[in-house]
Amino acid sequence: MNCEELKDLYELYALGVLDGEDKAEADAHLARGCETCRKSLNEAMAINTILLSSAPAAVPPARLKRRVMASVGVERSGWGWAAALAAAA
Ligand SMILES: [Zn+2]
Repeated sequence: MNCEELKDLYELYALGVLDGEDKAEADAHLARGCETCRKSLNEAMAINTILLSSAPAAVPPARLKRRVMASVGVERSGWGWAAALAAAA
């Protein structure tokens, strides 16, 4: 995988849900000291920190929530608010 392909994985990596070959590959790549990927991972972690710290505290108005859900194509599914925000981010 190249940096561009790995970039998509870092959000999952930052959430700690990446595993198997993908995680091994991301780990190996980061261990080589790739500056581009280190930055991507840092960004993903920053986004997660913002989401995790703000999501439980701020209860969004139902109307806004529906709009965000609709904008990311989530319509009354099992997805949580944080997942919708993550998808929108
Ligand atoms: Zn890289």
